[in-house]
Amino acid sequence: MSAVVGIDLGTTNSVVAHVDRYGKPVVIPNAEGQAITPSVICFRHGEIIIGSPAKELQALGKFPIAAFFKRQMGNPNFLLSADDKDYTPTDLSALVLGKLKTDAEIILKERITDAVITVPAYFRDLERKATIAAGEMVGLNVLQVINEPTAAAVAYGLERKGTGQQILVYDLGGGTFDITLLEIPKEGGVKVRASAGNHRLGGKDWDDRIIQFLASQFRDEFGVDPLEDQESIADLLVHAEEAKKQLTSVNTTKITVTHGQHCGGYLLDRAKFEEITADLMESTVVLTQGVLEEMKVRPKHINGVLLVGGSTRMPMVHRYIERTFGKPPMQGVNVDEAVALGAAWVAVEQLSLQKNKTFSFSLRGPVQTIDVTNHSLGMIAVNDKQTAYINSIILPKNREIPCVETRPYQHYTRRSGDNYIEVFMTQGETQHPAEVSYIGKYVIRDIPPQKSGLAVIDVSYQYDRSGTVKVMAKLQGSQQELPVTLEALLTNVQDRFLRPPEIQKIEIQQHVTAYLAFDLSGSMSGDPLKEAQKAAHGFLKNTDLAHCSLGIIAFSDRVKTKLTASQNARKIAEAIDQLKVCETGGGNDADPFDEVLSLLKNTDGRRFAIVLADGVWSNQPLAIKRAKACHAANIEVIAIGFGSADQNFLRDIASSNESSFFTPMEGLVETFSTIAQVLTTTGGNLQTTAGQSEKHGLLAGIHGMLKR
Ligand code: AMP
Repeated sequence: MSAVVGIDLGTTNSVVAHVDRYGKPVVIPNAEGQAITPSVICFRHGEIIIGSPAKELQALGKFPIAAFFKRQMGNPNFLLSADDKDYTPTDLSALVLGKLKTDAEIILKERITDAVITVPAYFRDLERKATIAAGEMVGLNVLQVINEPTAAAVAYGLERKGTGQQILVYDLGGGTFDITLLEIPKEGGVKVRASAGNHRLGGKDWDDRIIQFLASQFRDEFGVDPLEDQESIADLLVHAEEAKKQLTSVNTTKITVTHGQHCGGYLLDRAKFEEITADLMESTVVLTQGVLEEMKVRPKHINGVLLVGGSTRMPMVHRYIERTFGKPPMQGVNVDEAVALGAAWVAVEQLSLQKNKTFSFSLRGPVQTIDVTNHSLGMIAVNDKQTAYINSIILPKNREIPCVETRPYQHYTRRSGDNYIEVFMTQGETQHPAEVSYIGKYVIRDIPPQKSGLAVIDVSYQYDRSGTVKVMAKLQGSQQELPVTLEALLTNVQDRFLRPPEIQKIEIQQHVTAYLAFDLSGSMSGDPLKEAQKAAHGFLKNTDLAHCSLGIIAFSDRVKTKLTASQNARKIAEAIDQLKVCETGGGNDADPFDEVLSLLKNTDGRRFAIVLADGVWSNQPLAIKRAKACHAANIEVIAIGFGSADQNFLRDIASSNESSFFTPMEGLVETFSTIAQVLTTTGGNLQTTAGQSEKHGLLAGIHGMLKR
């Protein structure tokens, strides 16, 4: 017989649970008889001691100790040396998992083969992969890693209720803070809508404040600093945590500090404790407000707040929740155990799904956990002026996982030699290469040389159920996968991207800047706007943002630049989603050409304005005159019309007859997508090789493609 468990592998404490034969999730105690195992390891002359015995030895301050190593998960530069051996954070996590597994096997009298392990919602790819690797090191088949707040909601059985509610999970443990907005969709399941956190903020910081308070009193009294000595610090650590816990239930506590010959006793009351930790509490409030604001949810629309993690016992947390959300937190599940209990449920459901395993109790039905990406995924690209590297976001954060996003990538091939692309994948929200984390260098090889020199590779970024990342690549139009290898990153990888790109690249490839301008007059309301937005998304999907910037303009009675040209897929998608009919007035007095000209005036490379019109504009002669000024400035105007748009007018504003398109509304998506594809496969180079006739050929080709 073999068993399946859910494991909450925590920064300070870990918990393991299973679903018993009556179908009840229960915590499995460790060899010391405790539900909670401190994630602490002590190395005592070749002996490895884990859990509360290690925590007790930590207080003596005599032996090498590993604690809080979850904060280092996935960090390739962290190594702990003890007893002549080096340990990575994964090795240390495996030691804790090993103890949890062995102790639980003794209690259950069964071998444990499969597990679901929980991770903070904001864990990135590297940290998730390191967690899976730690499980595998102790012989566990990791069915899935799931986000801790999702597991907590499952423990409350919220996923079965299908209430359409918004739930906030406020998780303050020993070393991490995590705030997550969940939705319990009407059809059931748990959907993580957004999350944020700080994995350097937790109960330990509250302890440290008490230590500072005590040390300062001690210095005042005896003129010596107890923090000079490791043994005194270790002693203070234990007393401070103990005092903090007491202040959860009593108003005042007395703490004794001994150092050298001296011994002092100090009173600490709850009010003082809250005063010296107010900024820590405030950090959690700011992160909570940030998530609510980002998702445009008011506190009064939150249906319930779940508390997770030992530090949420502190009265200051309860007070904040009641004050802000107008009701006390939800009750019923132990804050230390909720995550492991939920993980145990997900584990049995996954085992029955993945291995057809049956159980003596009836399953609740697969837990529909719909998680979202917590970090945007991007790649390093060159900016529009080709003067600097930027982070181009490909898969925006808060997308439901599993998910995949495929983007074209232009690459000039050489006839001889190895043709390959290096994709530096990043996680992070900003455009600056110094502010993102580097997940890996993916090398796409065996790219066949192209006659035209330019190969378009469809690069796919995939998040699987566990939130880990994979890269795949295909030559556009071919079914064959190109080999992709993950190569080691240099520790100072970002330095390379803080310098300007090499000159050669500038010569080969010019940047493309395109503005999509949308007529948003009254006649666009309803389906036309929806189709136009879909078409714009289609354009975005087929655009190589490593070599192209996209901007969005709205116009009707007035003109408004919704987004100046950007290489950030998230911002572009947001700008498209935010287009609103009549936001620039209900009529047709304006045209976008002056705006386009001024936006693109100082832009290098190839420049395009792709204008969508659905009706007749009030001042067509003026629009034509301004469009011609764009043509004269070498800005290619592509005009797309549908509905009651005037076809002759479209031809007049477009740079050529071939650059004007008239399509039924249903054809908008294909028209926009195909134009983007042509711009990508030609690098926006519609005219350099054979002059005008070539340009007409390419655009005529689009007409041909669309007719098919
Ligand atoms: P966790 O990481 O969820 O196991 O939480 C551990 C943290 O919770 C540690 O910092 C503990 O000191 C803290 N903690 C546990 N019980 C209490 C309590 N009664 N009052 C305040 N903090 C507590």
